Amino acid sequence: PSYTTPDEVLTTFAELITDTVPYAALCYMFEQVEATTKRLLILDMLTQFFYRVITHAPQDLLHCVYLCINRLAPQYEGVELGVGESLLIKAVAEATGRNATKVKSDLAKLGDIGLVAKESRSNQRTVAFAMTAKHFGSSASRQLKVGYVFKTLKQIATTSGHASMKLKVDRIKGLLAGCQNSEAKYLMRSLEGKLRIGLAEQTVLAALAHAFVHHRSEPLPEDLEDRVQVLQEAAATVKSVYNELPNYDKIVPTLLDQGLDILPQVCKLTAGIPVKPMLAHPTKAISEVLDRFEGHTFTCEYKYDGERAQIHRLETGETMIFSRNAEDMTAKYPDVVDKINRAVQSTTQSFILDCEAVAWDRVQDKILPFQVLSTRKRKDVKESEITVQVCIFAFDLLFLNGQSLLRTPLEDRQKILGDAFQRVQGDFEFAKAVRTSEVEEIQTFLDESIHDNCEGLMVKMLDGDEASYEPSKRSRNWLKVKKDYIMGLGDSLDLVVVGAYLGRGKRTGVYGGYLLACYNPDNEHYETICKIGTGFSEVDLASHRDLLQESIIAQPRSYYEFSDAANKPDVWFDPKMVWEVKAADLSISPVYKAAVGRVDSTKGISLRFPRFIRIRDDKSPEDATNSDQVADMYHGQKINAVKANDGSDDD
Ligand code: ATP
Repeated sequence: PSYTTPDEVLTTFAELITDTVPYAALCYMFEQVEATTKRLLILDMLTQFFYRVITHAPQDLLHCVYLCINRLAPQYEGVELGVGESLLIKAVAEATGRNATKVKSDLAKLGDIGLVAKESRSNQRTVAFAMTAKHFGSSASRQLKVGYVFKTLKQIATTSGHASMKLKVDRIKGLLAGCQNSEAKYLMRSLEGKLRIGLAEQTVLAALAHAFVHHRSEPLPEDLEDRVQVLQEAAATVKSVYNELPNYDKIVPTLLDQGLDILPQVCKLTAGIPVKPMLAHPTKAISEVLDRFEGHTFTCEYKYDGERAQIHRLETGETMIFSRNAEDMTAKYPDVVDKINRAVQSTTQSFILDCEAVAWDRVQDKILPFQVLSTRKRKDVKESEITVQVCIFAFDLLFLNGQSLLRTPLEDRQKILGDAFQRVQGDFEFAKAVRTSEVEEIQTFLDESIHDNCEGLMVKMLDGDEASYEPSKRSRNWLKVKKDYIMGLGDSLDLVVVGAYLGRGKRTGVYGGYLLACYNPDNEHYETICKIGTGFSEVDLASHRDLLQESIIAQPRSYYEFSDAANKPDVWFDPKMVWEVKAADLSISPVYKAAVGRVDSTKGISLRFPRFIRIRDDKSPEDATNSDQVADMYHGQKINAVKANDGSDDD
């Protein structure tokens, strides 16, 4: 309540949005959001913005929502922005009649192509812009509308093939020609794939919910507490619907046509649309698991080391396979469809299975390590050419024959899973599990899991309200116990590669080391955490160099946190590649910036003796280990050290 949108902002929304939404209105809202860090103010401004759109230009609401989260389609459709820097430089140079080298050097100075475009636009609004505007016809020279911007961005994202570069540059020039004030800045950032205004998707969902509460015919309760409760419940509803059905193309029209109250009945878990998977919390000792689950029924399962596979069977009979990150992997696993066909019982029609696809040795009938799976081809896989066989280990069933099982306790879900499918040895297995609360038995099962090439155990609540499936949540109802945790740091970290150092001696021609960072979702910054040079094979070093080639950027991004003086890399990269890394421990560092402000006000945390484990191409940079997790690990390590000195650690 203390953060309400200022009157002049409301007036500007009202003046700009009459029957359609001009791109200028959206960019004005972006500017207001970017100018503050007050979460509640951001939420309120976005709510007011959406409310104005709902009441005056509802046909543009979906475009506005997509542009706020910088996406053009549901994530699983894979329509991605992220136009390369050189193409953007070319477009800005051509649109403004400036020299590309000059644009590039401005970019090196400002570190943000959006700002460069804005500056170029205001300094050189003469011949070139006018010419481009003329060339691209009236639509470009008139005020840009969000509908037009959205449509053009989608064309840019989906243009491929031979002449696509030129077409993309032309379309970007066309849009730039219509830009005024801050529009060029946000347009460029959208094209780059990073809006970076501090607007989290969760805030967009909450604002959407609040705007529809205001739009409802019944008035909000007078009492402040009641009002807050109504708003919070609405936000929880929209977020939970989105977790089950991450598709704005379905949610936004339903909200507009049928309203908020009916939304959960219409937009439900659907086979064919990937659910955000439930995740687990790391633990450092079996005693920690027992403390958490004391008095509850729980199961210990093998934690298989492969690739998460969410397998969907649609009403039409079609089978689809999605990754941890909602990417469509059906083409990567043509062989899995046949395995599933042999495992389904005749009464089973539509379903959503949660599984791990694991490399499998058919001769010795055993699980192979993850490294073997990672050599399997990812694209254009022909069944006859598959060399790495997989076995599917099913551990959960989320949906069966048209019915959601998300709120059914795990114990029942697993029973239903057992009835709906049958084991096909080496092709389709149920996750191996034991039920025990004896430390020794859990320890033995953990040892067996490692012996069987698994990562450790997953321990899960079986019964009661806490045993439901919680999409997208890293839940305390699922705990992971890895062998390494008990001996060392806790979990491994998934870190973003932001820079590299040229190799010398034996590493001439490849990079000798890399600079890694964790992600801070609060300010969307990447905080450097360590330099890494160990754990790489020669093949790794060559392939990393090649894979990172296209991510090279001239200067560090403005949102990279590093200390200028120390360890400046020779080459910088865009945040794209995520690596799993293990380390001996974490220490406070005057040089690195991870979790700065969380443990120490000015110093960050760094990893000691980091070692490369593998590429995590099922994680995007925003899914990397975040600053809070790094701080938690640091604190956890201190607690463990104290316990060890006391002799009170019973592991
Ligand atoms: P990690 O690096 O541990 O895989 P993550 O962030 O990808 O981290 P977590 O929540 O930490 O995911 O661990 C859960 C992952 O373990 C799942 O995504 C799945 O791929 C895998 N897994 C293997 N066996 C199981 C199981 N029995 N139950 C649930 N998940 C399992």
